[in-house]
Amino acid sequence: MRIEMLATGDELVSGVLADTNTTWFGGALFSLGERLARTTVIGDRLDDLVSALRELAARADLVVVSGGLGPTLDDLTVDGVCEAFDLQPVVDSEQLERIRARFHALGRTLTPNNERQARVPDGAEVLGNEYGTATAFALEVGEPHRTRPGTCELWFLPGVPTELQGIVGDRLLPRLRRRIEAEGVHRCAREVRCFGIPESHMDQAVVPLLAAHPHVRYGTRVPFPDAHVRLLAEGSTADEAQQRCDAIERDVRAALGDVVFGGEGETLAGATLAALRQRGWTVCFAESLTGGLASAALAAVPGASDVLLGSSVTYAESLKERWLDVPQDLLERHGAVSEACAVAMAEGALARSGADVAVSLTGFAGPDAGDDAHPRGTVFAAIAGGGGPTSVVRQRFLFGRNDVRRIAAHLALDLLRR
Ligand code: ATP
Ligand code: MG
Repeated sequence: MRIEMLATGDELVSGVLADTNTTWFGGALFSLGERLARTTVIGDRLDDLVSALRELAARADLVVVSGGLGPTLDDLTVDGVCEAFDLQPVVDSEQLERIRARFHALGRTLTPNNERQARVPDGAEVLGNEYGTATAFALEVGEPHRTRPGTCELWFLPGVPTELQGIVGDRLLPRLRRRIEAEGVHRCAREVRCFGIPESHMDQAVVPLLAAHPHVRYGTRVPFPDAHVRLLAEGSTADEAQQRCDAIERDVRAALGDVVFGGEGETLAGATLAALRQRGWTVCFAESLTGGLASAALAAVPGASDVLLGSSVTYAESLKERWLDVPQDLLERHGAVSEACAVAMAEGALARSGADVAVSLTGFAGPDAGDDAHPRGTVFAAIAGGGGPTSVVRQRFLFGRNDVRRIAAHLALDLLRR
């Protein structure tokens, strides 16, 4: 199946907004064993929209179009579709009622331009919208608009990511899955998410396993600072596909060991919080170069308050002394970016907070070069408490300033998780 995506909107071509709808949809197709053949991004110009729609309908089997279904004059999708395929716009009375009820529930009155959002091309399949106002619809286009056999199905979806994702997840993906399964092919997808392993090492660990799993496709993704393995198993029944997926996932997790923190949809912070909660531990952070990023990441997980006691951001040496009892002579002898300082910060935070475990972070994020002993990107993380002696790790990251800070925060979370 040749699947393409067309993202529309002036924001997307003027440096205002990144087109995450295409990225998301490409990712969502993986679970079906499909991929985007090509993507197109255009601004809000009717002639560009009309020509893009004609080109895509001619060569693709399925096209997802994002955006331009709103109430304003720059929302041109319905007009573009009508011009491209010689159709008439009609107001769908059910959708008008839906929109009116939605506005009523929000205590707002409908303006004439909101009524525009109930317009669809005559003959389209009206999909509605459970997540917002704009009316989604689908259209099947055949002769004389095709350069290939068969028809092209076009789905016109709102640009708002939550709305697009909701409709694709509820309606489009299940329909595609049924179509694929009608051909006797069942697919099952998994992700194995890791932190602290380069992509090349991950690849080296996984590739030798694949010979024993001939019905599995494999890929890697590295959404900074994670590294993810994606697995797709095929079978002639749903059960067979799932068993094959279970088997390769087991082998991959065993080969990668404790760099694995979770599966699809899981985050390192979520895994860390779950591990701490399971041990019944509370945690406190002492953060220098990360300026609070580690505790903020943990606080982003719902329910963090029963585990996270707090954090001190001690950027200056004077605050390391005053808030964490780091001895002045230690700072004079070793400097703030040192193993000794990281240990003293973690132990100070542990004693002061009464938490079960405390983690400290200190380092040089750059862009200055640092010195020979501690070049730019050097990070120390120490962990104190938890019933063992204080331990410290030293790492060097060759990234820009804020990526060093982000990965250092993840390093602290990962130390806590393990
Ligand atoms: P609306 O009723 O909100 O106008 P719409 O279908 O007309 O819906 P757009 O006007 O194109 O959609 O986009 C609405 C908002 O959705 C944009 O302002 C932007 O914040 C977001 N958005 C649109 N397209 C994308 C995209 N490709 N990737 C990420 N976000 C997008
Ligand atoms: Mg709009």
